[in-house]
Amino acid sequence: MADSERMPIGIFVMMGEDTPPAIEMAEEVGVDNVHALAPPVEKRTPETAHEAARRFEDAGIEVTTIFCAYEGESYDSIDAVCETVGLVPEKSRQKRIETTKKTADFVAEMGLDTMALHAGFISEDTESDQFAEMVDVLREVSEYCADKGLNLNLETGQESAEALLEVLDRVDMDNLGVNFDPANMVLYGSGKPLPALRKVGGHVRSTHCKDAVWSDQPGETWGEEVPLGEGVVDMEEYVSILDDFGYDGPLTIEREIPPPQQIEDMKKGVKVLQDAKDKLGIS
Ligand code: MG
Repeated sequence: MADSERMPIGIFVMMGEDTPPAIEMAEEVGVDNVHALAPPVEKRTPETAHEAARRFEDAGIEVTTIFCAYEGESYDSIDAVCETVGLVPEKSRQKRIETTKKTADFVAEMGLDTMALHAGFISEDTESDQFAEMVDVLREVSEYCADKGLNLNLETGQESAEALLEVLDRVDMDNLGVNFDPANMVLYGSGKPLPALRKVGGHVRSTHCKDAVWSDQPGETWGEEVPLGEGVVDMEEYVSILDDFGYDGPLTIEREIPPPQQIEDMKKGVKVLQDAKDKLGIS
């Protein structure tokens, strides 16, 4: 990835059991930078980290962020996400805090500087006990990341812009930022994404470029993820707002369907984003 290029276009890949499929996917789409989902928890070891870093480097692909996911998460429905995703569910919280720290070790062993995660459905009631507990949890993992020299980015989606700003303000750690995903806000029915981006844009340190259409019962049932440029997110305006905030980081295309259609949609997504950058004079 050329150092001088602003907002280089990349894709989201899964490291899975091994990294070659992730590398092949980036090569097939024709990008040189990725966000990568961490391998299964038992594989988040120094040995795997060194091997993965070597393979990505040999392929000339820069990993800009590693995403931490947890065992037992389900994205089958909005209710399932509420009950199972991130650091919110109380039953698994302590174990997942440990997994988060182990994943931070993995990211540092890869020689990288950024980890991201879905915190889960943080309460919109900023006076609630759950909200206060999550502020403490996020401070604990942010501090752990800071000790490793890592930034930690929270994926947007399940909460409103206002609640997210309150979390960031109360945790009050410089290394805690936002991975903005506009489609998630549509999928979860948590607010219009571009006005939300205007509110939280100063905290955005990485992005997902993903598109969706609203559910007919927003917040109750899922909206539908669609290829970039075919949903309600105006990608040119999205990139333009990021530009207004001086964002220089990658535009990372995420498409949550299986290959081969995933690859085809990502290739079209590269064109949508390149056209937007060209129109806005970003290079
Ligand atoms: Mg995302």
